[in-house]
This record gives sequence, structure tokens and C-alpha cells, in this order.
Amino acid sequence: MFGRERIEYKTPDQVRRMRAAGIVVAEALAAVRAAVRPGLTTTDLDDIAAAVILGAGATPSFKGYHGFPATLCVSVNAEVVHGIPGSRVIEPGDLVSVDCGAIVDGWHGDAAFSVVMDPVSDSDVRLVAATEDAMWAGIAALASASRLGEVGAAVEGSVAGRYGIVEGYVGHGIGTAMHQPPEVLNYRTRDRGPKVRPGLCVAVEPMLTDGSADTMVLDDGWTVVTTSSRRAAHAEHTVAVLPGGLWEIRPRRRSGRAGRAGRPGGRAVLTPRRRSRISRRTGA
Ligand code: MG
Ligand code: MG
Repeated sequence: MFGRERIEYKTPDQVRRMRAAGIVVAEALAAVRAAVRPGLTTTDLDDIAAAVILGAGATPSFKGYHGFPATLCVSVNAEVVHGIPGSRVIEPGDLVSVDCGAIVDGWHGDAAFSVVMDPVSDSDVRLVAATEDAMWAGIAALASASRLGEVGAAVEGSVAGRYGIVEGYVGHGIGTAMHQPPEVLNYRTRDRGPKVRPGLCVAVEPMLTDGSADTMVLDDGWTVVTTSSRRAAHAEHTVAVLPGGLWEIRPRRRSGRAGRAGRPGGRAVLTPRRRSRISRRTGA
């Protein structure tokens, strides 16, 4: 899909500019996470995110992207990604995946989280946790990787065959466009991928299924669902490789469990994450 020669390596100053977009995305996702509950429609969630993004003077990345009609992708239960917000009412026990992108001064941020509504099922909670763990395993691998393929290998290693890994949709480079080279696979291949060097900015975003990873697209032309109707989860985070290590592009958390994308932040700073810290977060 992407040629290796077209990777857009960013300067540290450009990464700092990307931070602004990442912060807006994190704040929008935090607002949605705080609000999501049974009885709301997926459009209600979209409205919350849009208010945060527009209120910050930013632009939703997704709206109008190849004709996508909304600010968020909200994907429920067997929906994997690219669910279109609408009149669907969130029900007790639903597994809700929320993906958000925003643009600030031409620079993009992109992140996603999944959450289970009460009363939660243990299997759904485990699926969401495994998806987050897989994302952090990939990010941890990136911190010391010489080739980008190490990210996919780490994601697959983290999943350890317990869940399906959706292969048709992958992570990506990000910067002056939401989707740029290189692709960031969520599985191991013989292709070691491009070299990892400072300035590489990518969204790492595994999508796991509680069963077969086969998917299809609904008639709306967007919504990706599991063909088995088994549930799916998605986690995504944007990170930058810089000379001093790996940086997360989002606000610093005051506290809270590691690995939760879009948690409410404290001071808005670009947070360096060296491998040692990543390892502790992930158990890798
Ligand atoms: Mg996304
Ligand atoms: Mg993405």
C-alpha cells in the first residue's frame, strides 16, 4: 500500500507540533470515555467528541475522509472498526470501541480505546485488556526496534494465539496526513519492514477478535464486522521515535492505570517513554 521511500520523518519541533493534535484527540476521547453509558446513542458520543475538537479550534480528521460522515468511528460488539455513529443505542453489556482523529495546524493525531458497559462480561474485559496489552507490547518493541517489523512481532507475541488478529487493517505512519507510510502490521512477517530511526511517527493499533479474525464490510461501505459475529476490540496510540527515545503524543496522566488511551490528562506535555519504563508498563 505504501512505498518505503515516502516515509515522512519529523523533526523534534514538528513532533512538538503534532503534540497539539494528540492532546485534542486525548481530550476528546477522555470526554467520551467519561460519558459513555447504556442509553446513549453512538451519535451522542460523536457530538461529545465534536464539541471538544471544535471547541479547541481543531478539525476532526475523519469527517469527510473519503466521505466518512462523522467525527468518531464508534464500533459496537462484532463491529471491529469504522462504525458510523447513528441512532444505535448503547446497551448494557456492549463492548464499545471509539476511534478519534483531529488536525491542528495541519498536523494529525489519532487514537482509540475500547470499553465494556456494565454488566461486563469477563470475556469482554479480557479481550479489551489483551488488545491494550498488545498495543503496548508493540509500542515497547518500537522503543528499541531496528526494523518496524518488530512491532508486529511483539503484538503477535503478546496475543499468543488467544485471540484473532485482524490483518486487513493495520497501523500507519501519521503526520501531515492521517494515514502515511509505513504500514504498521499487527503480526509477524518475513519482511522486516523499514528501518526505525528518529522522526518516525506511527499509530500502533491492534484489532483483536474473540474468535476468527475474518471480517467483512457492511453495506454502509464502512463498518467492518467479524464474519463470525464474535466480538472485537481496538486500541490505538500515536507515538514518535526521537533521538532520546520514544515519545507518546498525548497529555501526561496524573495517575491511573498504565495503557489507557485517552485518559484525562494533567499537564499537557510530550512524554518521553524510554524502553525501561515501557517494559514496566507492559511486563515485556
Ligand atoms: Mg484511529
Ligand atoms: Mg489510525
